[in-house]
Amino acid sequence: MQGKIDLEDRVRGVLLGLAAGDALGAGYEFKPAMEASEPVGMIGGGLGDFAPGEWTDDTSMAIVMAQALAAFGGTASEEACTQMVQGWADWAKTAPDVGVQTSAVLRAAESLARRGGRELPTAADAIQAAADAHQRTGRSGGNGSLMRTAPVALAYLHRPVEEAYTAAVKLSALTHFDPEAAEACGLWTAAIRHAVLTGQLDVRIGLGLLEPARAGLWEQRIGAAEAGAPKDFGNNGWVVEAFQGAWSAISAATGRSAAQAPLERQLLVEALEAAVRGGVDTDTVAAIAGSLIGAACGARAIPGDWLGMLHGWPGLAASDLDELALNLASGSHMASD
Ligand SMILES: [Mg+2]
Repeated sequence: MQGKIDLEDRVRGVLLGLAAGDALGAGYEFKPAMEASEPVGMIGGGLGDFAPGEWTDDTSMAIVMAQALAAFGGTASEEACTQMVQGWADWAKTAPDVGVQTSAVLRAAESLARRGGRELPTAADAIQAAADAHQRTGRSGGNGSLMRTAPVALAYLHRPVEEAYTAAVKLSALTHFDPEAAEACGLWTAAIRHAVLTGQLDVRIGLGLLEPARAGLWEQRIGAAEAGAPKDFGNNGWVVEAFQGAWSAISAATGRSAAQAPLERQLLVEALEAAVRGGVDTDTVAAIAGSLIGAACGARAIPGDWLGMLHGWPGLAASDLDELALNLASGSHMASD
């Protein structure tokens, strides 16, 4: 019974951790790195003039994804992907903080739809728009697909890790053509899934799913993250350095807190504060870190005052994220039975 309670708590920790990191970083976005002595809090503000405790595009886009996955049996089907694209396009109409790459792709997908005589964009429109954007600019490795990948880990919790990885890659390509973004999403999703199932933090768990040369490159990147600090990965609008910054924050906190008990809350708070102190895209790096550290430590590790403050588009609060996460994970169980 205890095992089931722990597993449920870790399921709940994924989206709550994501939202907590996002809301914590919101007030510091695009500011420089901070000293370890500088306090970090749920102050709100930032580019979208957010309220204290309000989450930003990272969590809002993940919610659209979670709802679409839940609506279609927890599978990243064509229909689920189309619902995501339409949900994001709808959200983007009023959101104050749509990422540059995501915004361009969604607008291009809408225009492809109009030209094809469709009222709303489909998944195929978005994939085409993302590929076109990559071809035009030669780059599409922003962090905008990694920041929203967490729901995939819940939807595929009780399915093979290969399926979770493939789904994460597929959903990344809806807005980000670059294989770097795909691999980052696949690896992070595999790590979240593993953390929920076992309580263990192992960002290398998905490396075996990559081609050996790519796995070797990611191993080097992960090693650099562990040897460095979040501020060393200041180009964190790029998916690779966002991944490294998030893992750097988690691994530094793990190293420091390991000998102390009870350590889960301290570890989660230290990791998210470290992610924010790394500077620049603070909410996204902390959101990415939060989805993994929340998966490992569980919802009980998230401070109660943070949970009470968390809220955001589309008019949801912490209890709604709880319900969404538990729904996704239980659907995954049924899919596997
Ligand atoms: Mg954001």
